[in-house]
This record gives sequence, C-alpha cells and structure tokens, in this order.
Amino acid sequence: MTTKPRTANHVGKNQTSVKVENTSSILRAIYETSDISRADLVRLTGLTAPTVSRIVFFLVEHGVITESPGKRNGVGRKPVVLHFNGRSRYIVAIDFSWAHVRVAIMDLGGGILDRSEHAIDPRGQAKAEFEIAISAIQESLNRHPGIKIIGIGFAAPGLINSESGTIISIPNFPSIRNLQVRQLLEERFGYPTFVVNDANAEAIAEKFFGQGRDASDFVLVHLGYGIGAGLIVGGRLYTGNFGVSGEIGHTSVDRRHGKWCDCGNRGCLELYAGLRAVLEDVSVRLGRQVQFIELQQLASEGDGKVLEVLKDKGELIGYALVNIVNIVAPQRIILTGQVAALGSPIFEPMKHVISERCFYRVADQISITLSSLAENSTLLGAMTIVLDDFLEDPYSFLNVHAEHHPKKVSRPA
Ligand SMILES: [Zn+2]
Repeated sequence: MTTKPRTANHVGKNQTSVKVENTSSILRAIYETSDISRADLVRLTGLTAPTVSRIVFFLVEHGVITESPGKRNGVGRKPVVLHFNGRSRYIVAIDFSWAHVRVAIMDLGGGILDRSEHAIDPRGQAKAEFEIAISAIQESLNRHPGIKIIGIGFAAPGLINSESGTIISIPNFPSIRNLQVRQLLEERFGYPTFVVNDANAEAIAEKFFGQGRDASDFVLVHLGYGIGAGLIVGGRLYTGNFGVSGEIGHTSVDRRHGKWCDCGNRGCLELYAGLRAVLEDVSVRLGRQVQFIELQQLASEGDGKVLEVLKDKGELIGYALVNIVNIVAPQRIILTGQVAALGSPIFEPMKHVISERCFYRVADQISITLSSLAENSTLLGAMTIVLDDFLEDPYSFLNVHAEHHPKKVSRPA
C-alpha cells in the first residue's frame, strides 16, 4: 500500500530504480507485518533470497529493522524474525490551525516522544504566528538532543500546494497568503519538509493507523472549525490537479442568499455547520455565550434547544455527504473533529439524510464511523506523510539526510 503523492521534491532520487523499489517492498512488508522471516519475505515479495538478504543487511546495519529468534517450526534451526524498529528515527509533526499549533516529535510507529501546544491568533500577522510554530519546533528539538530526525510533516487547513510546500491560503486567516512553509522550515532546520492539507493528513493517518487500514476507498471528513475531506482512492491519497481536493466545506448550501465566504463562494457549508457556526447558533438560541465544553455537556444531556440546532447541522452535513457518496462511492466514511465528537445528535440526522437521499441500497452498504485516533489524528497524519515517503524510498533518507547533521542556520532566529 502506498499513499502517495510525493509531497516534496528535495531528494531528487531515481524513484523507479529497481533497488529502491525492492527495498521499499521489503521495508513495507516488515512494517505491515511487524514480524516476518526472510523466507516469508521471499515468498511475499517474489524477490530472490540473496536480494532479500542483501537489503535486510542494509536495513539492519542502519538500525531500521532488528532481528530476533522466532518460534521453532518443527525440527531444525529457529528462523530469525525481522521487526521494524520504530524508534530508530523520529519525525517532527506539526498541526497548525486557527486556534493552535501543536508540535510533536513522533517515532516511526506513531508513538509520541514530545508534544506541546501553543495558541495562535488567526487575526494576527502570518509571519508572527508562523514564528510561534518555528520556536515550538526548536524547543522540542532542544529537549531531545541526539535523536535522528528524518523529516518534518506540516499539516494545515485550507488550500495547500504540497508540490511547492506552500500554504496558498487559509479561509478566515487573512494574513496567510502563499506562505512558503517548506522553504522556511528547510532553511531553518535542514530537514526535508512535507506540507499537507489537514484533512488529507488525517486520511493518511486512518490508512496507516486507524479505521481505513482494511479499506481501499474511503473518505475522511473533518468536522471542526473548518470542514474538509481527505480521499483515499485505490489505496492512495487523491489530491486532485492543483493539490486541492475534498473541499466539501466550500460547497454552497445557500447559493442565493448565503453569507460570502473567504474562498470566493457564497453560502459555504463551513459557514453553517463548522464549529464556529454551531457555537454561534446555539448561543443565539440559548441567549448566552456557549463554549464547546458546555455545548458537549448540553448535547449529552439532551437539551431540547441544543438538539434542535444540532439536528439542523447534522442534516446540512448529511447533504454534503450524499454528494460525496454520489461522486466517490466510498466503502467507508470516517468522521473526525469536534463537531463529529458531539455524537448522535449530529450523527442521527446526518445518517437519516444519507439513507433518504442516496441511491437506493448504496446507503446501506457504506459504513459511517467516528475516527478512533482522537485529537492527535492531524499530528499522526503529518508524521505519516513523511513516514510514507521514507517507506517508499528509504535510501534518500538514510544516505542523504538522516546520517547528516542538519544544515547550519544561516540567518538569525
Ligand atoms: Zn467557502
């Protein structure tokens, strides 16, 4: 399984070389099975025993995999079993959003070594707000000297050009325009940097660690302040032609009279069913300011007025999901984000709309579930974007980057 796209072009290696492909298929097999013998690798990959041995030797030498004695199968020697060593390298993951930037150092198995969260102001200046992320990364790295970092994964909402590593814009974060994230982070830290849309990151996280592991076609829908979707089609992330896809939050639910959106469209779903709109409408309905924690409480207690507002929001989201089902026909829809976390008051009206409005029988065959990855799913996705590239072409990381010290910082912090 691979969830390309290749989101960075910094390595410039020959991707199609047989050596890279063979190494990648062996490394992925070891990663996915977690323990496997050389003989099973030969069977699984179709490569010759000497090729498998040579590649395994290289990966053991670099600490990416380890060996241990396996269970004896009948008589004879115990086979040696190979394991993926998740803690041989680390990845810096960043979840940059309207209210916060979260920074984590994660191992290759998704374990968190270090995590911090800092407030962001979407009305602030892009440079100053981005500097908060840079300082947080530096502080995290300072806390763990000597670990081997293979790259940085940066996830943000809005329009992202992953090819150039740029945030083109984030709706309702007006100062961010064409922010050259990859260039800035690579200049500063010297690690290969990947920039990805947050919903796309979450989709990849589901493919590797969550409820998309056994599905080839699924849609991850993020229902938070923003609403967006990440599409996995044929086992791969589908990012569209401009690196932009799945922007269901910017499909119009009121084309004539709707509010104007930052994206250029009118009456966008996000303006009506995003967390901000949900909180505003509940506050108006109750005649006082309501924050998310209280909303969650009121929803779980079954407050009548709150349930009415949430029913309307759930239905709006349901219509958007009907559109997705009609276009993509996924096996599964996985929901994440704070609005999804409100549970059945959103889910039930949403599912009702889907069963009513989708093609006959299609609705019954699509499973709709809540993500199990919780609030770290964006961080996990940012990490996985780098991990996936590492599994695809380990040489470019092991030979070029990981064994070298990061570039010297050439400009003041
Ligand atoms: Zn919009």
